[in-house]
Amino acid sequence: MTEKRPTDQRPAKLRLAIVGAGPAGIYAADILLKAERNFDVSIDLFDHLPAPYGLVRYGVAPDHPRIKGIISALRDVLDRGDIRIFGNVRFGEDITLDDLRKHYNAVIFATGAVRDADLRIPGIDLVGSYGAARFVSWFDGHPDYPRTWPLEAKQVAVIGNGNVALDVARILAKHADDLLPTEIPANVYDGLKASPVTDVHIFGRRGPTSVKFTPLELRELGELPDVDIVVYDEDFDYDDAARAAVASNKQVFVIDKVLGKWRERAHKLAEDPQAGASRRLHLHFFAKPLELIDDGTGRVGGIRYERTAPDGQGGVVGTGEIRELPVQAVYRAVGYFGSPLPGVPFDKKHGVIPNREGQVLSKGDPSSGAGSANQQLYGVYATGWIKRGPVGLIGHTKSDAMETVRHLINDLGNWWRPESPSEESIVALLDERGVEYTNLDGWHRLDQHEQALGAAEGRVRIKVVPRDEMVAISRAVAPAAATASA
Ligand SMILES: Cc1cc2nc3c(=O)[nH]c(=O)nc-3n(C[C@H](O)[C@H](O)[C@H](O)COP(=O)(O)OP(=O)(O)OC[C@H]3O[C@@H](n4cnc5c(N)ncnc54)[C@H](O)[C@@H]3O)c2cc1C
Repeated sequence: MTEKRPTDQRPAKLRLAIVGAGPAGIYAADILLKAERNFDVSIDLFDHLPAPYGLVRYGVAPDHPRIKGIISALRDVLDRGDIRIFGNVRFGEDITLDDLRKHYNAVIFATGAVRDADLRIPGIDLVGSYGAARFVSWFDGHPDYPRTWPLEAKQVAVIGNGNVALDVARILAKHADDLLPTEIPANVYDGLKASPVTDVHIFGRRGPTSVKFTPLELRELGELPDVDIVVYDEDFDYDDAARAAVASNKQVFVIDKVLGKWRERAHKLAEDPQAGASRRLHLHFFAKPLELIDDGTGRVGGIRYERTAPDGQGGVVGTGEIRELPVQAVYRAVGYFGSPLPGVPFDKKHGVIPNREGQVLSKGDPSSGAGSANQQLYGVYATGWIKRGPVGLIGHTKSDAMETVRHLINDLGNWWRPESPSEESIVALLDERGVEYTNLDGWHRLDQHEQALGAAEGRVRIKVVPRDEMVAISRAVAPAAATASA
């Protein structure tokens, strides 16, 4: 069926559904409400989690309070009261694209990316091999992940040279008591407190001047109490391309400076090993992981990697020199990946909804409702990580949202013509389906509850983890269940 271009009768009101209450969804709502336009707007924001803020709540590391603080700006937007929130509502299960067409003029998908990108090397499925996204979800108290995490390894490898790799390595190496001032749930503190880890090794296949770490995150590693940073002289034999990068790029310059200081510290430590900390964080550059080694029982026993060398053009080539390091756990932090949404086109290669500046395209998928590839699917938009792919900081989702909202406004004549656009009709539908949705008042209740749990222990907040408990507190039912999280 070819998507028909709706007739150009301009509606006086835009009933908009936004799916995903992370920063991209909230910014899109805010930008639209503040935009110059000649029609009224009424926005419903859906999220499958009972609490808003997406990866700011469930991705950003708990020991980054400055970044977590972005939540207060997002909360101010929601607290204005001109956006309705429906938490604990999963698109594709509780509501479908057909439902949205019946009740809204348009939808913006802002569903982000939650799962790990694949790393296809032998041994990746061994016990003790983990995706960073799952570990992050555990330490950030995501309700849909197990409460316990197997922290039994003394030596750990983290594969990746981006900020998520640093987050994972830092949380693994940090002493649990140094995380106590944060909002980490009790189960996460207990798990980390019992961890026997002594050495965390970060592996990147390129050189120090090609990393994706940001200088601030890298420098922070050097400030961890009782953790030494270990760097290796062999990784600093720069070629012309690397020297040029240091000279021309301020970020690379700072990273090189930070690493240089750690080299000096590592030399001093080599002279007096007794002065060392009880835990170490090693940075291995020019080290391309090839295989996770089976310890004979189906568990990770080590990592095999190839030493690489600069190729003279800013890249690397394998040298054929193979090395091994004994580790009992491996975390791959090689990127996040978006997930398909039922009835919505999906680009399997890039893990995004295919779009042109936020206008969703059919990609030639017959089930999408449009005929040929790259035809605009009227009424359907995307923003944030599911639009652009899982790269970039929270601030980037704002410029994303501006672009998407601009098209949404300009497409006025092409919006859907819903048969039942009243604000009550979607509530009636959710009630009829028995969906236990949460709303803004519910979020306030949960927020206050978490802050009260924290205050009792002299902390800012302690997160509630189990979904049923979050929902019960939000919906003010079964108050007996409103206890500290497991
Ligand atoms: C580990 C980690 C650390 C990070 N640290 C930083 C940092 O320190 N600083 C920084 O600036 N950026 C950081 N980022 C990046 C930042 O989190 C992202 O840029 C931003 O969250 C992307 O926003 P988004 O709204 O597109 O997606 P998300 O934040 O993922 O929000 C998507 C929302 O959609 C909801 N959703 C998904 N599927 C459905 C569905 N089927 N039905 C209903 N709802 C659904 C999800 O529950 C979620 O709430 C970090 C990212 C990660 C992964």
